[in-house]
Amino acid sequence: MSEQRLRDNPTAASGPGQMAVGKIAVSADMAIPPGTPSERRHTVSLWLYLIGAVAFLFGCYLLFLEDTAQTRLTLPSLSPRTELPGADTRPAARAEVRAPVAQIAAAASGIAVGAVAVDPRRTLTTEFLEGLWHDAELAGVRRQTFDRAFQGNTNLDLDIVALNANQPEFDRTVGDYVGMIVTPERIAVGRARLEQHAGILEAIEKRYGVDRHVLLAIWGIETNFGLAKGDRSVIRSLATLASAEPRRAAFWRGELVAALMFAEQEKIAPERLVGSWAGAMGHTQFMPSTLLKHGVDFDGDGVRDVWASVPDALASAAHYLQASGWMAGRAWGREVVLPADFDYLMATPAASRSLTAWRVLGVRPQTGVLPTIEEGTTWQLVVPSGAGGPAFLVSPNFDALLSYNRAYSYAVAVGALADRLAGNPSIQAAWPKGEPPLSRDQRIELQEILVSLGFDTGGVDGVLGMKSREAIRNFQKGKRLPADGYPSSSLLTRIRSERRL
Ligand code: CA
Repeated sequence: MSEQRLRDNPTAASGPGQMAVGKIAVSADMAIPPGTPSERRHTVSLWLYLIGAVAFLFGCYLLFLEDTAQTRLTLPSLSPRTELPGADTRPAARAEVRAPVAQIAAAASGIAVGAVAVDPRRTLTTEFLEGLWHDAELAGVRRQTFDRAFQGNTNLDLDIVALNANQPEFDRTVGDYVGMIVTPERIAVGRARLEQHAGILEAIEKRYGVDRHVLLAIWGIETNFGLAKGDRSVIRSLATLASAEPRRAAFWRGELVAALMFAEQEKIAPERLVGSWAGAMGHTQFMPSTLLKHGVDFDGDGVRDVWASVPDALASAAHYLQASGWMAGRAWGREVVLPADFDYLMATPAASRSLTAWRVLGVRPQTGVLPTIEEGTTWQLVVPSGAGGPAFLVSPNFDALLSYNRAYSYAVAVGALADRLAGNPSIQAAWPKGEPPLSRDQRIELQEILVSLGFDTGGVDGVLGMKSREAIRNFQKGKRLPADGYPSSSLLTRIRSERRL
């Protein structure tokens, strides 16, 4: 890095040294000592040699100082996928994430944190671009398109590296998330958009069988009805992630190639592919591979334009949900009331059953009546925040929503907002209070204790999948606790006490 800087600006390093040598040489001429001409010449020569040697050494010393200062300012590159030890995992504004990046870079290099700056010139390597071109060419991308995509666009976006490392870990409870999404303002704007786009929504419903209120809810959640689509270069974002995030490099690289393919196929300039820092694009935030596969040109202008065309974006979302198993005419789910002493082991996909079977088990709708015309569909009981919060019977359409975003909180928020847009009541049961979600470290701790107690969590990785939930259920069952499989902070407290026994 410092060598590069020296080449770019040689005077920056050598200037001070030369000036010092010059000044000393001038003062040597003025200090010629007395004596015979030959003696004087000899003495002068000796003095000049000595002064020259001192000046040379002094110049070298100044150069060394300058080089050290430059090293301090041009920190080495961030190690790919640097973890942020002790960093705040809540969503961070761009300005806020800059500080940890500098600190980590400094920590990694062993240089004290001070006035540090991350080198802004980090670029994609030739090796990366050559390998990418190989993949892109095989995928049918022309060299012209590829070159245009990376023209002046090869510097990494270091904000993204920090954002990716700093992703929030379930920083909100399901209740908080739903409350944040389903607001009077969003409902009001959504209802206005329903009227504004009634004709398009009618046509999309007819073509794909997806409820218009669900499409509006997705639009409202993803980009606040198009107000926050993101304006980062998706090519640059994905290239940054593909080259700086080795853990999921193949995924990001695949999305990057898909983005290039999309630009090629739609004849869209690559710089028009803008979106979120993680590469999601347009009104309904499609990743490139999903857009490539499920994007729809609904307004018929020849381009699948999910950025400028609301019909294209909403139809693409409907097409994707249809492909993900959406069943026309079915509700996403219904809030229900469970009988006392309900066996929460029934709240698993394996226990899905017909509405008639749920009625027999004493499950009642929170408001109104359970649908009767939807027989033939199995419904799953979901308690997104455990036994202490609302319960839902959900149809396969809930799974289709999960294909958009795997978080239960997301699917419940879409369903709840869609219900409100359709004029139905909001969720009635209260969400549990004072139960902050577990951090990654706490989830790992929970898994470690479960394993030490003889339960199979399917690994200790901080990801509480089906096996970990099952392990929690089995633990709860043994302790005669409601076996909802929910990893609450009170469960962690309880299980810690078990370990000590
Ligand atoms: Ca179009």
